[in-house]
Amino acid sequence: LTSGLEAAWTKLKGEEVLTKENIVEPMRDIRRALLEADVSLPVVRRFVQAVSDQAVGVGLIRGVKPDQQLVKIVNDELVKLMGGEVSELVFSKSGPTVILLAGLQGVGKTTVCAKLANYLKKQGKSSMLIAGDVYRPAAIDQLVILGEQVRVPVYTAGTEVKPSEIAKQGLEEAKKKKIDVVIMDTAGRLQIDKGMMDELKEVKKVLNPTEVLLVVDAMTGQEAAALVTTFNVEIGITGAILTKLDGDSRGGAALSVKEVSGKPIKLVGRGERMEDLEPFYPDRMAGRILGMGDVLSFVEKAQEVMRQEDAEELQKKIMSAKFDFNDFLKQTRAVARMGSMTRVIGMIPGMGKVTPAQVREAEKNLKLMEAMIEAMTPEEREKPELLAESPDRRRRIAKDSGKTEQQVSQLVAQLFQMRVRMKNLMGIMEGGSIPTLSN
Ligand code: GDP
Ligand code: MG
Repeated sequence: LTSGLEAAWTKLKGEEVLTKENIVEPMRDIRRALLEADVSLPVVRRFVQAVSDQAVGVGLIRGVKPDQQLVKIVNDELVKLMGGEVSELVFSKSGPTVILLAGLQGVGKTTVCAKLANYLKKQGKSSMLIAGDVYRPAAIDQLVILGEQVRVPVYTAGTEVKPSEIAKQGLEEAKKKKIDVVIMDTAGRLQIDKGMMDELKEVKKVLNPTEVLLVVDAMTGQEAAALVTTFNVEIGITGAILTKLDGDSRGGAALSVKEVSGKPIKLVGRGERMEDLEPFYPDRMAGRILGMGDVLSFVEKAQEVMRQEDAEELQKKIMSAKFDFNDFLKQTRAVARMGSMTRVIGMIPGMGKVTPAQVREAEKNLKLMEAMIEAMTPEEREKPELLAESPDRRRRIAKDSGKTEQQVSQLVAQLFQMRVRMKNLMGIMEGGSIPTLSN
């Protein structure tokens, strides 16, 4: 999705204002990029129409270039399309909150049960899981094992009892134990079928759930729109959870859910670990889709491993685009410490989708960067401009770090590119420039 949209912006460079004529081509690119990202056609049509209407309506704003204006309009529309604000989970005021999970087979329902219990535990809420997938004994074992992992009780009644009966028994048990949240796992099928829907309806009737969350695999693509519509019409959902966002997903499903059902995505799964569940932030997702990297999520992750004031400082620098090599080093080291590169790398500005091979490459690059940054003087780290201006300095760093001059030049160029991207993301309209290195 990213490269297609970046091409769209480039075409507007040098134009004075947005007109009906000069947005035709960028809009065609945007349309193609969305279709390639597996957004369903009706959703794409409405989106493109909404953006075009607004773009032509806006006049010349001093100091704001048309391409930046279009980026902003597309960004705002994307955010709107995905629901605007973060949608919090709803909790019941009396008795346990009941969350019913539904979705096709293999999308991550059982994993989400345990992740969600773990997530709620951090908010001080107790949970109990109910094993309602009675078609495979392995499914029950899986939930029990995950429950042990996050230290949350799991209610099971074997494979001989009807799911709606298990739901009833489980709920009673939870009430007795004064559990805050009950999370019901259900069986999925490879495709939507009547048996699954009837079973879900029955379970829903018994549980009277506070939330019915449809678990959707981010890779679902074009079918997401039909899938969400069917579940919503048949059983009535209150929201969705988008899983496997860490994978090679094209993001189309994220754009369709709210538009076709009116129900928001509430949470996202970003990996297989129990910690990999987060609230869904429409603005960050839009930023990511626009190819600017998910800087805010990144800063948030970095906070887990950096001292608080360090992270605040970094955020301030990112926002003022004063980001220097010290920050660069701090950030790359934080990333390394975070361990799971795959998860984080998509959030670094300028790095879009990545394959495992690219991840290994990136890890190698981190070592390379560290060596070069360590060879810089404190002054050079604070003022990257010094390096942009002086080939002598770059040569010295190359020699001291045992790298080539070209590698040093690349690193310097990369820092300035990051500054510009960050600046764009933060909506600073002045627009930065990438200095050319003098020879
Ligand atoms: P269910 O059939 O819907 O219950 O799906 P499961 O919970 O059994 O998950 C199917 C597979 O997807 C398992 O191997 C999970 O580890 C994996 N999985 C679930 N969520 C995620 C995620 O967010 N990211 C990744 N990479 N894998 C996931
Ligand atoms: Mg399952």
